[in-house]
Amino acid sequence: MAEKAVNKEKKGRIPMPEQDPKVRARNFLEVPTGYTPKMAQEEASRCLQCKKPACVQGCPVGVDIPGFIDLLSQGDLTGAIRNLWSKNALPAVCGRVCPQESQCEGQCILGKKGEAVAIGNLERFCADYERENGTGELPPKAAPTGKKVAVVGSGPSGLTVAGDLIVKGHDVTIFEAFHKPGGVLVYGIPEFRLPKAIVAQEVNFLERLGVKVVCNAVVGKTVSLDELFEEGFDAIYIGVGAGLPRFMNIPGENLVGILSANEYLTRANLMKAYKYPEVDTPIPLGKNVTVLGAGNVAMDAARTAMRLGAESVKIVYRRSREEMPARGAEIHHAEEEGIELFLLTNPTKYIGNDNGRLIGMECLKMELGEPDASGRRRPVAIKGSEFEIETDLCIVAVGSGANPLLTAETPKIQLNKWGNIHADEKNGKTTMKGVWAGGDIVTGAATVILAMGAGRQAADSMHEYLTLGW
Ligand SMILES: Cc1cc2nc3c(=O)[nH]c(=O)nc-3n(C[C@H](O)[C@H](O)[C@H](O)COP(=O)(O)OP(=O)(O)OC[C@H]3O[C@@H](n4cnc5c(N)ncnc54)[C@H](O)[C@@H]3O)c2cc1C
Ligand code: SF4
Repeated sequence: MAEKAVNKEKKGRIPMPEQDPKVRARNFLEVPTGYTPKMAQEEASRCLQCKKPACVQGCPVGVDIPGFIDLLSQGDLTGAIRNLWSKNALPAVCGRVCPQESQCEGQCILGKKGEAVAIGNLERFCADYERENGTGELPPKAAPTGKKVAVVGSGPSGLTVAGDLIVKGHDVTIFEAFHKPGGVLVYGIPEFRLPKAIVAQEVNFLERLGVKVVCNAVVGKTVSLDELFEEGFDAIYIGVGAGLPRFMNIPGENLVGILSANEYLTRANLMKAYKYPEVDTPIPLGKNVTVLGAGNVAMDAARTAMRLGAESVKIVYRRSREEMPARGAEIHHAEEEGIELFLLTNPTKYIGNDNGRLIGMECLKMELGEPDASGRRRPVAIKGSEFEIETDLCIVAVGSGANPLLTAETPKIQLNKWGNIHADEKNGKTTMKGVWAGGDIVTGAATVILAMGAGRQAADSMHEYLTLGW
C-alpha cells in the first residue's frame, strides 16, 4: 500500500486540454475543453481512497469525494453522478468555478508532496458525461404536500432551494428580476468559463421537475413579500445576491469610459453585447483597458475586454500576487492570454480630456505593511511614487454590496450594518416569520458553493416548517 501511494504521489495529474491562449484570447468559447473518459479514469486512479479523506473536510458541502472518484475509476459513471448529486445540485457548475485550490484540492494528501488529485476536473467530467450521455431520468418526487414556496432570485442558492423543496413534494415558484434565470452564473461569469447552455440545462432540469420560473419580476417592487403571502405562498426564500457595484470614490469617476464590472459583464454575458450590432445592447470597446481589482470578477472583465479586441489590458491591484483573491486557474489563464498585472499599484485619480472622456489614470506604488483586520498585509503608499497609466476604458471590480431593492421595502427583515440580511447561521431563518435567506445577500459576495450550501441548509429548515411549523 505504502509503495502504491508513493507511485501515485510521483505520478503528476492529467493536464486539462485547453484552447491555445493566442486563439482563445479572441473568442468566447470555453477555455478548457474537458477530459476524455480515458483521461478521467486515469486521473481518478491517482486517488489514494484515504480512510480519513482531508479533501472532504475542505469541501463546504461535504461531497463524498473518494466515493464518487472510486465509482468513476470503476467505470460506474451513473453511480458517480448520483453520488455527486446527493450533496451538490450543480456539479457541472462547481467543477468549473469552485476555488478548488483553497478547498478540496488544497487539502488533498497528494498535494503535500506532489500534485493534488484534479477533483474539480473529475466532477466536471461526471456532470458533462451525464448531460451528454445520461438517460435524463428525473429523481423520485414525494407526494404533493399542498404547500407553496416562493424563491426570490435564481442564483445558485435559489436554484438549490427550489431543487431540494420540489422533490420533497412542495409547489415551488422562482421569481427572478432579470429576463433569464441563473443569477451570476448567467449575468456575471462569462461564456468562456461557464457556457450558458449548461446553466440553462440545470434550470430546465428543475422545470421538468415542476419548478415554475417567473422572470422580469422584481420582488419588493412588482410584488411585496406580504403580497406573496396573501397570494397563498406558505414560505419564502430570499437569495437575491450582492449585485450592487462599489466604486473607488476617487476624483474623475464620472468621466465617460469608467464603468462597473457588473454593468460591463452583464452587457457582455446576459445581453450578448459581444455580438453587437446583431443584438441590441452595445458595449464600450477600449484600446488600452484597465481593470481595478484582482478577484474572479476582475479576471472575467479583463479577459472579456481582451476578447472584445483591446490592444492592451492591465489589471491594477494594490496588494501583491499572493493576496489576489481570484482562483489560481483564472490568474494563470489571464496571464497566458496576454493580460498584464500591475501589482502593488493604487489608482488615486482618473484623468480626462476636454470632452469629459477618460484618457488616463494617476497611480501610486505601494508596499506591504503590517496585517490588517482581514489578516492580509496592509498596502502602504510609497511617497513620491506617482505615475500615470494611459487608459481609455476602466472597469471597476473592487467588490459589490447588498442590493437594497427588496430589503428597503421589507422593514420586518433585520439587516446588518452593511445592508446584508441577518439570518440564523444554522438554518437561514430571518427575523420575518416564514422567510428564509441565504447566499451572497447574507454573507456578502462569496462563492457559488457557499451560496448553494446556505440554500441546502435553509431548504431543510423550510421543509421542517412546512411540515411541522415555525
Ligand atoms: C463576475 C463574477 C465571477 C465570479 N466567479 C466565481 C467563481 O469563479 N467561483 C465562485 O465560486 N464564485 C464566483 N463568483 C461569486 C458567485 O457567483 C456568487 O457568490 C454566487 O453567484 C452567489 O449566489 P446567490 O444565489 O447568492 O446570488 P446571485 O448569483 O447573485 O443571484 C441572485 C439573483 O437574484 C436576482 N434578484 C436580485 N434582486 C431581486 C429581486 N428583488 N427580485 C427578484 N430577483 C432578484 C438577481 O437578478 C440574480 O439573478 C463570481 C461572481 C461574479 C460577479
Ligand atoms: S485526499 Fe486526495 S487522495 Fe485522499 S481521498 Fe481525497 S482526493 Fe483522494
